[in-house]
Amino acid sequence: MSSPISERINTVRAELPPSVRLIAVSKQVPTDLIRTAYTAGIRDFAESRIQEAIAKQAELQDLSDITWHFIGHLQSNKAKKALENFQWIHSVDNLKLAQRLNELAQQIDVSPYVCLQVKILPDPNKSGWNVPQLLADLPILNQCKNLQIQGLMTIPPLGLTEPETMTVFNRTRELAQKIREQNWTHIQMQHLSMGMSGDYKLAIQAGTTMVRLGTILFGERGA
Ligand SMILES: *Cc1c(COP(=O)(O)O)cnc(C)c1O
Repeated sequence: MSSPISERINTVRAELPPSVRLIAVSKQVPTDLIRTAYTAGIRDFAESRIQEAIAKQAELQDLSDITWHFIGHLQSNKAKKALENFQWIHSVDNLKLAQRLNELAQQIDVSPYVCLQVKILPDPNKSGWNVPQLLADLPILNQCKNLQIQGLMTIPPLGLTEPETMTVFNRTRELAQKIREQNWTHIQMQHLSMGMSGDYKLAIQAGTTMVRLGTILFGERGA
């Protein structure tokens, strides 16, 4: 018997090009539904709060081939826990945090995959680098050798039109391209983490490689 969740997963998956990684955002989703998604084939799950994630990961320990992605704003006092419990951190949003993660990663002997979170448009509600600051910080980021910097993550501001959202995604891709062409030794730029339930089709058109989908797979949170 197929549940609505596995049907939704199959429907969304059929829309994604094979090159796009589907990351199921399981924040506020109980572990029984995470298991349903796992049974439907999902192996990438994302959480945005460390404490909630660690509690659920403990209940899901038997699903040992899950890759966990952290997508929330990370306070530096939780950085070590993030490194211990997540293989990917999409939301590295400032230089200090990157440097802290790099030091801690060395201490505990991990080398996480990370994305650098950028704000293409000003957005007081989101953290992240603005473009000039990110470009200025690249020489130092290139020295964070315990981080495997994979690409850029972005969240468009709320309330944009589709063309405006498209512009944000296209400019993010162009920025990744520009950084790639600078040939840094320790900064890879082959990934883009962009696209949520409301805008993932636009992100795919703009060439994203990872979509972070919650509501469209699991339903409204708290509903
Ligand atoms: C919650 C969240 C998502 C998923 O949002 P939906 O609209 O439910 O798909 C994706 N990315 C981040 C950073 C989030 O916090």
